[in-house]
Amino acid sequence: MDRLWEQVQGALMQSLGAQNFEIWIRPIRLSNLTPHAVHLQVPNRYYRDWVQANYGPTMTDAFGRALGRGVELHFEIASEQAPLLAEADRPPQGSGLASQVDEGEFLEVPPLPPVLDEGRPPTEEVARSHASSTIGVSPDKIFDNFVVGASNQFAHAAALAVADQPGESQYNPLYIYGGTGLGKTHLLHAIGNEVRRRDPSARILYVTAEQFTNELIDALRYRRMSNFREKYRRWPAVLLMDDVQFLTGKDRTQEELFHTFEWLKERGRQIVFTSDVLPREVHGFEPRLRTRCESGMLADMQPPDLETLVAILHQKAADLGLDVTPDVARFLAARVRGNVREIEGLIKRLSALCRLHQAQPTIAFARLHLGNVLADEPHSVDAQEVIKAVASLFNVRVEDLMGSRRQRQLVRPRHLSMWLVREHTDLSFPDIGRVFGKDHATIHHACKKVAGDLPNDADLRGAVAAIRRSLGLA
Ligand code: ADP
Ligand code: MG
Repeated sequence: MDRLWEQVQGALMQSLGAQNFEIWIRPIRLSNLTPHAVHLQVPNRYYRDWVQANYGPTMTDAFGRALGRGVELHFEIASEQAPLLAEADRPPQGSGLASQVDEGEFLEVPPLPPVLDEGRPPTEEVARSHASSTIGVSPDKIFDNFVVGASNQFAHAAALAVADQPGESQYNPLYIYGGTGLGKTHLLHAIGNEVRRRDPSARILYVTAEQFTNELIDALRYRRMSNFREKYRRWPAVLLMDDVQFLTGKDRTQEELFHTFEWLKERGRQIVFTSDVLPREVHGFEPRLRTRCESGMLADMQPPDLETLVAILHQKAADLGLDVTPDVARFLAARVRGNVREIEGLIKRLSALCRLHQAQPTIAFARLHLGNVLADEPHSVDAQEVIKAVASLFNVRVEDLMGSRRQRQLVRPRHLSMWLVREHTDLSFPDIGRVFGKDHATIHHACKKVAGDLPNDADLRGAVAAIRRSLGLA
């Protein structure tokens, strides 16, 4: 009987497509087989009506072909024995319906029966009826392979908090913003994967703002709005929307997104947005949505410092089975200022070249073969330039930063300049000590202090970003 069901499932997967299959067919159990009838167990009445109306003939056909004779389908409802779902909006726990949809692929949710028409409140049946799955979440972007450093620690912690308690109002929505290639998308997928790991039945939807926009346009054009809303409102327990800066100026999309957001939030569903800019800088961002984002949790991501880049480089090399010594890692990291995506490309190339030449990745080897893709020399600044930039931002005099007066408004920028000099020049702690007229332990202490404060201090991160920009480092 199992073999038969497998065979029929295979045929249905072919004819209905992966997404429809996962949602509607996967949860069905074959409970009995008689010479003239096939008994199938479905989660509830709504499910039965829908499957019967839409896939009944296809299923009858598939069984007929597998058995070599005509049969009738009988649907039995499993949920009639099961207790009713207490929280209609939570995905059913341990329902055995967990399943995975083609990763990265974005497919249509099947059209809805009238019961799901817009404006009607969700019923327990509806909540129950959907097989669990995730859509669009890449399984390889997880918290375990995300390297945490001062520049992304805050966003990482916020993402973890969301994965830990999706829907918690303090973090709803979570809005992650920062430059390109800094790991925003990675964190978004990591949230999805972590929520799923903890609750395999959770319905998680990853989508880019662009996809959302395109699907909305199609839905409007082909009058499939209830279908669209089913997908974005009723279905997901967690909605992960990437790159909302692409919503720019699209009124109808913004409005729909706002209502989608309100709908989800009212029901304790989690929403996470990413963007390359702050909500108020997303041009034409629906004002109410902007306010909601600002009163949720804003988490910025800064370009990683050299240490973090080196750690990321080691991680990526290890993923490829490439052994990179610390000095090679530092050599490479210093030549791809800031952008993690570039590092990834570089390390892939290096790995391929090493295999090709059957060589070890030494600095000389990297210089010889990657010369054309590496920045000539790391973009460097000298200590004086850094100190000047800090002085100008904090509106203090350079002499005061170099001096020893211990006023609060001087100590902070002074520590910051020491840390920045360490980050952006090749000077050692004793070298920096000489610049500031301090011993190396003082410099070391100051750098540690700044590195420790960065994750919890958005103002400080903002200052770092501003100084880096003014120095042409970011
Ligand atoms: P963004 O969405 O901010 O443009 P991505 O998340 O796409 O950036 O990151 C670019 C690449 O760099 C991805 O392959 C991602 O896995 C990797 N990456 C970024 N930050 C980290 C990190 N901290 N640790 C490990 N990999 C990272
Ligand atoms: Mg991205």
